[in-house]
Amino acid sequence: MNARQPTTSLPPVVGAYRVIPLIQEGASASVHSAVAGAEIQESLGLPGALVENWHDKAIERLGQLVKQRRGLRVFLDTCTRCGACTDKCHYFLGTHDPKNMPVARQDLMRSVYRRYFTVVGRYLPWLVGARDLDESMLDDWYTYFHQCSECRRCTVYCPKGIDTSEVTMAGREILASIGLGQQYSQEIISKVRRVGNNLGMKPRALADVLENLEEDILDETGVAVRLPLDDEGADMLVVTPSADFFAEPHVDGLIGYAKVLHQAGIRWTFSSTAAEAANFALFSGHHGHLRELAMRIRLAAMDLSVSRITIGECGHAWRVAYSFLDTLVGPLDFLQPGHTRAEHICEVTHQLWCSGVITLDPQRNAGKVVSFHDSCNVARGASMGDRPDGQFTIPRALLAASVPRVVEMSADTTRQKTFCCGGGGGVLTDEMMEVRIKGALPRAQALQAVVRSDQVTHLATICAICKTQLSTVLPQHDLAGVQVTSLHHLVGDALLLS
Ligand code: SF4
Ligand code: SF4
Repeated sequence: MNARQPTTSLPPVVGAYRVIPLIQEGASASVHSAVAGAEIQESLGLPGALVENWHDKAIERLGQLVKQRRGLRVFLDTCTRCGACTDKCHYFLGTHDPKNMPVARQDLMRSVYRRYFTVVGRYLPWLVGARDLDESMLDDWYTYFHQCSECRRCTVYCPKGIDTSEVTMAGREILASIGLGQQYSQEIISKVRRVGNNLGMKPRALADVLENLEEDILDETGVAVRLPLDDEGADMLVVTPSADFFAEPHVDGLIGYAKVLHQAGIRWTFSSTAAEAANFALFSGHHGHLRELAMRIRLAAMDLSVSRITIGECGHAWRVAYSFLDTLVGPLDFLQPGHTRAEHICEVTHQLWCSGVITLDPQRNAGKVVSFHDSCNVARGASMGDRPDGQFTIPRALLAASVPRVVEMSADTTRQKTFCCGGGGGVLTDEMMEVRIKGALPRAQALQAVVRSDQVTHLATICAICKTQLSTVLPQHDLAGVQVTSLHHLVGDALLLS
C-alpha cells in the first residue's frame, strides 16, 4: 500500500484502504461557516458585529477562560508535539489541510496563549512558537475552529489526553464574545430559548404533528399508539431531537420509541417547552447558554411531575444529559429513586427487552444486513446503563435482537475509535458541504469495505446529526444504496405490538 497518496477531487475517491495524505497548505482555508447576524448575536447578549477593540477583548476573554477552565490551561501547557494525533482527524484525512491536524488546530490557540500568558512567549516568542493575535490569526481561528466537529477522536490517541474539542469550544466562545458567533449554532440556541426547539415549532404545530403520526401508526399497524404532549402526571418525560418529529430517517425512530413505550404500558409524554434534546451551546462553548438550555428539561420534568427523564436518539444531547446534567441543573432528586439521572431510550428499551416486557423478532426485518455507526458524543463522551462500555454494548444488543444480520466495520473505526460522520459539532450547514463530504471519507471507506464484503444494506445509528449528515453525504461516496436508519426504526419494526 502506498501510504502517501494525494487526492484533490471533490468528493474524494473512496479507496480500499485509509491513506495518510500529503499535506496541501490552505486546502480548506476558503471554506467558512457563516457568521451570525447582529439580531441573532444580540438576542444572546453578545455583540452584533466584530467589536473595535477585538484584539484586547479576545485576549482578555482567553485569560479568563484559562483561569476558569483548568483543563483548558493544562491542554495548552502539556502538548509535547509527539505527532500521535496528526493523522487521526477525519477533516485532515479528507481535506489534507495541515491546519486540520488536531495539534495544529490546538496550536492556533496555544501560540497566542504563549505570546500573552507565558514569560518566555512575551520576551522570546520565536523560541516557543508564540504568535500575535493579528487579523490573519483571527481568520484562522474562525475558519479552523469551525472545521472541528469536537468529536474527540484525536484525544483517544493523545498520550497526554489533550482534548482538542475543549480548545475548539473555547475558541468559538471567544470569537462569539467579540462579535464573531457562528450563524448555525447561535440561531438554533436563540430559537430554543424563545420557543423550546431548534425548529421554532410552536406547541399547536407540535400537537398536530404528533396527532398525524398517531394516525399513521394506526393505519400501519392497526394499533392505537399514543404520542402524548404535556400529559401532567405521566411517569416518563421523553426529550428527543426535534428532527425526530418530522424528518426522514429520524421520524421512524420516534415511532419506534412510541411503539416500545406503548407495548411496555408506560405512561409517558413529550413536553412542548422542552421539545428539544439538542443543546447547541455544547458546540458554541458558552457555558451560560449550555446551562440555560439544559434547565428547560429540569423545569419541564418538574412542571409535568414525571418520575423519569428519557433522552431520544441524539449524540451530543446524550453527552450533555449523561455527563453534565447533574452539574448544570442537578441534583435531579425529585425523580423516582433509581431513576435520578436521565436515561437513554436505548437503555430503557434494552431493560424492557432483557426483562421480557417486550419481544423483538429479527425476522420482521428479513433481508436487512446492518452495520452500526457509533456516534462520537455517545462513544467518547458518555456511557449508558450500568456497565462502563454500555454505550457500545446496549445499542448493539438491541440491533442484534432486531435484525437477522449485523456486520461490524473495521475495529479502528468503531466504538471508542469511531470516525465522526463529518457533520457534528455545528458543521452541519450547507456552506460547509465541501468539508462535510471530505470529512466523511474515513467513515465511507469503512462502510464501503463491508458493503463489498458482506452486502450491507443499512447503516443504523443513534444520533440525529449523524442521520442527517450520512444520508446527505454517503451518496457522494458511491454509497447511495445504503439506507441510513434510526436504531429504533429497526427496533419498532421488529417489535411484537398489540
Ligand atoms: S476533535 Fe475531532 S474534529 Fe476536532 S481535531 Fe480532534 S479529531 Fe478533528
Ligand atoms: S498527540 Fe497530544 S501531545 Fe502529541 S502532538 Fe497531539 S496533542 Fe500534542
